[in-house]
Amino acid sequence: MIETNLVNLLLQRGQNLWQARQTFVQFTGDPHVDQMLNDLDNTPHAFVLACIMDRQIKAELAWLIPYRIAQRIGDFSISALAELSPSRIEDLMTRPDPLHRFPSKMARNFHEGVQHIAIAYQGDASNIWADKPSSATVVYRFLEFRGVGPKIATMAANILARDFKVAFSDYYSIDISVDMHVRRVFTRLGLVRKDASNEQIIYKARSLSPKFPGLLDLPTWEIGRNWCKPRKPECSACYMNKVCPRQGIQQ
Ligand code: SF4
Repeated sequence: MIETNLVNLLLQRGQNLWQARQTFVQFTGDPHVDQMLNDLDNTPHAFVLACIMDRQIKAELAWLIPYRIAQRIGDFSISALAELSPSRIEDLMTRPDPLHRFPSKMARNFHEGVQHIAIAYQGDASNIWADKPSSATVVYRFLEFRGVGPKIATMAANILARDFKVAFSDYYSIDISVDMHVRRVFTRLGLVRKDASNEQIIYKARSLSPKFPGLLDLPTWEIGRNWCKPRKPECSACYMNKVCPRQGIQQ
């Protein structure tokens, strides 16, 4: 009964976020960068390349990289990017300051990502999600980019559906992307055991919201980010405090 109540609260919050009007997504906090990342009509490849860069460094830094590359070459058209050799991209990724912790590896991923967009999607990355594809199709298409795993692929599909209101024919294959916030909240709400694997958390979300597991992603992430802090959870401010089995526990 308690689990039902708290899951209903999470799903309601997820529905509200889902039904909210499209808003400007603050990926990095820099308005110029975020403008390019939000402009799916003119620079959809910025969003895709930022997803490819989102590995092993803070997301806010990873999502800056396409803009910083654009600044360094003075052009962000896919045709200009497609002419860059792998070594040139590595140079751009490295100088005058490194854009990523692993510039060589990420330069290769960036180069192959640009080539894949140029060849498979006729230079228009929005063809990845055009024509109302199934969620599995979109996730699979992201997985085809070098360096993109299931977590980033489902995150990308979730952002497209939830924040950019891109229409899909279904939402079954959009899972939650387990990070430290999502894990902490799933654990403290008693939805999974403390030692649960990422796969267990993903399947728990599937069992709670089979038609759209990713609906639980942002509600749990924002609870973890805003109130359910690692050391001092701010339970009095958290909207789950009436149903949370762990509320008030300091850990
Ligand atoms: S009530 Fe407290 S412990 Fe429960 S989810 Fe909210 S912040 Fe975390």
